[in-house]
Amino acid sequence: MKDRLDPKAYARLRDQVLRRDAWRCQWCGSLHGLEVHHLEHRSQGGRDLQENLICLCHRCHKSAHSARRIGFEKQDVIGNARSRHKYFSEE
Ligand SMILES: [Zn+2]
Ligand SMILES: [Zn+2]
Repeated sequence: MKDRLDPKAYARLRDQVLRRDAWRCQWCGSLHGLEVHHLEHRSQGGRDLQENLICLCHRCHKSAHSARRIGFEKQDVIGNARSRHKYFSEE
């Protein structure tokens, strides 16, 4: 099974995620430098699905990755984003 989307499909998915998250970083609320982050990394079996993607600004995205690197529990960092994300998606 192919688990990578082609670039066009990925761009569309990315756009859907940005729209779902109201074009805001889900950690700090910034509207600038937005990127889409995989909650479950691709190398850990994360899929290219809307629910596995979150909108983060460049800065928060960087700390998401370094937090992962230094071994923070996912729930500290990502879980926080997830619960916030619930709040956003109910709007
Ligand atoms: Zn990322
Ligand atoms: Zn941010």
